Amino acid sequence: MTRCCKCPMPAVIYQKYSGMHLCQSHFDDDVHRKVRETLRQTGLFAHGLRLALAMDGGKGSAVMANIIKDLFARRRDIDLVALILDDHGPGAKAARIASQQLGLRASIDALPVSLLNDREASDPAPDPISFAQKMRMMTGLAREMGADAIATGHDLDDVATDVFISYLEGDLDGLQYGRRETRPDRYEEGMIPIIQPLRRIPGKEVRLYALQHGLCFAEMGMEDELHREARQELCRFDSRHPGTKYSLLRSLEKLDLEKSDRSGSQRSKAFK
Ligand SMILES: [Zn+2]
Repeated sequence: MTRCCKCPMPAVIYQKYSGMHLCQSHFDDDVHRKVRETLRQTGLFAHGLRLALAMDGGKGSAVMANIIKDLFARRRDIDLVALILDDHGPGAKAARIASQQLGLRASIDALPVSLLNDREASDPAPDPISFAQKMRMMTGLAREMGADAIATGHDLDDVATDVFISYLEGDLDGLQYGRRETRPDRYEEGMIPIIQPLRRIPGKEVRLYALQHGLCFAEMGMEDELHREARQELCRFDSRHPGTKYSLLRSLEKLDLEKSDRSGSQRSKAFK
């Protein structure tokens, strides 16, 4: 049995990129610390706000909502609401259960039937509803709810894959969803900032966290061929060169910093 590097308890995970074996409790601490750091970087939580949690029923949204709910349990000035796009599939069902378990007020919008019809015929083809379309609907829902920001369940693998593809295609503007996050002073007027609290946590660890905490989630896997291939290649490369996904995330964050000409970075208060 391998022991935790920080205490005598048995390890539940080995992090190749950090060289650490961690037990359940130190693994949880590590995940929570990364989420707190990411949230602090957004500069959004210095004051009260209404945060919309985009829940698709996947492991990411379940873990994100669970941790955010815990983290802000004592912040009465932070109001949480769940956003669910109902496609009548297992994802939406899991999202409803997860939001109920957390006692979150949920705003639910049904996806247009015309889009859903395509899916049944071509299953397991890629999701006919694009990410951009979904985000537009989510943003609409968030606006109706009077939300100041939207949090999604995207993890390190999701973000690193997007950066990887954008570099391969020479399309750095394609990174706009990631970009919006880190520099609050750059949010365009009328735009609702989208944040990714799990962007520093590898997908494998998000899954482990969801399983260890018995969270309700559905298997999603609705990606196009390009994303699937890029994700697999990136994972293969990362296992031989641990930390590659973090390097891609850092390159995104550097772009953010370069884009921001003002140095007045906002510092938010510590959580709790
Ligand atoms: Zn430990």
